[in-house]
Amino acid sequence: MQPADLLFDSQHIWHPYTSLTRPLPVYPVASAQGCELVLDSGERLVDGMSSWWAAIHGYGHPRLTAALQAQAQRMAHVMFGGITHQPAVDLCRQLVAITPGALECVFLADCGSVAVEVAMKMALQYWQARGERRQRFLTVRNGYHGDTFGAMSVCDPDNAIHKLWRGYLPENLFAPAPASRFAGEWNEHDIAPFARLLAAHRHDIAAVILEPVVQGAGGMRMYHPQWLRRIRHMCDREGILLIADEIATGFGRTGKLFACEHAGIAPDILCLGKALTGGMLTLSATLTTREVAQTISNGEAGCFMHGPTFMGNPLACAVASESLALLAENRWQAQVASIEAQLRDALQPLCEEPRVADVRILGAIGVVESRIPVNMAAMQRFFVASGVWIRPFGRLIYLMPPYEITPVQLTRLTTALRQALRKPELFQSSNAAFPETMRYTS
Ligand SMILES: *Cc1c(COP(=O)(O)O)cnc(C)c1O
Repeated sequence: MQPADLLFDSQHIWHPYTSLTRPLPVYPVASAQGCELVLDSGERLVDGMSSWWAAIHGYGHPRLTAALQAQAQRMAHVMFGGITHQPAVDLCRQLVAITPGALECVFLADCGSVAVEVAMKMALQYWQARGERRQRFLTVRNGYHGDTFGAMSVCDPDNAIHKLWRGYLPENLFAPAPASRFAGEWNEHDIAPFARLLAAHRHDIAAVILEPVVQGAGGMRMYHPQWLRRIRHMCDREGILLIADEIATGFGRTGKLFACEHAGIAPDILCLGKALTGGMLTLSATLTTREVAQTISNGEAGCFMHGPTFMGNPLACAVASESLALLAENRWQAQVASIEAQLRDALQPLCEEPRVADVRILGAIGVVESRIPVNMAAMQRFFVASGVWIRPFGRLIYLMPPYEITPVQLTRLTTALRQALRKPELFQSSNAAFPETMRYTS
């Protein structure tokens, strides 16, 4: 890339959550192979992000590339209205087989946010078909479910700056975020405010929506699985639907194939995305039970009211199917377990560092929460100079590497992270300097 290209980028192209008048630096990446990103300059960076939970098998995996090429030669895309094809059928068959419980009806869409929109719409149509007016969703604070309006309406109200959208965004119900930690003691009081909200609104709530066990972009918090068991029980008792958003947690990241398995529960509606194609193409899926699907289909509308143009894209389905075949070979379990062990050894002791508020580790996720927010641009520059790709946000510096990462590569990530914590210039000078919307609490 020429300097003019970078200038054009900064003046014309939005990156996620950035300003066009005060753009943050971007690094030109020329290629990505295995667990490394290769910059234009030729520098190789060990990838600690899996491109936001997605690239679980690393980059350019030969089997995924072969599946993509083979499908591209046959048919890249064809409309899904009135047409079906082998890649979609193969993929949905695999999804039905591996997901928890009796989730057996699949809706394919293009991205995670839309999978959440679809899940919420399913819940609304379900109640409409049953002749009940239920139009609210109950969730917990610190959640993240995507950037479209329905999804935003169940994201943490402060992080997603609900006040910016007042009057436009549906007003849903928020219980405090779970406080009992994943491996900590279960405290029954933790769930009481949630239970009270659910009881008070039990005739208005269409569904509870949650990220099981790990809250991702809303704070990287890991909570006690008993939360999910109790919520499943409450939903069953009141006949309220439970939506599990496993867009981030799905496909082995937390040490189980799906995070719901930590609690031994199954949702009524499940959202999948991110790692579904092993990070190669954008695709999402919303699964539900036969009962929900039948109720919706027998309702007044006579059908489920959604149908994206690129629904069931054959390229994405073929790659996803191959990614699931790779997972089915079951190497991920040993890989995630050894990443978890190494993260524990390397990161857990960092909780002694003066700048560190908390360290959390689960599966192939390692989170270091600092006391003050990071200086994103400075810390990113430091990481790139150290030969690693780690993108912190707010007070969170976290690792979620591809499962294929080697111990030596993982050591490079944890070493750079540890060094960053000792450099005051990589942090904001005070909390006040940081935008309110990006201040996370643990
Ligand atoms: C990323 C994410 C989404 C949104 O997915 P997109 O593909 O970015 O639209 C929804 N829910 C969770 C839990 C996520 O992590």
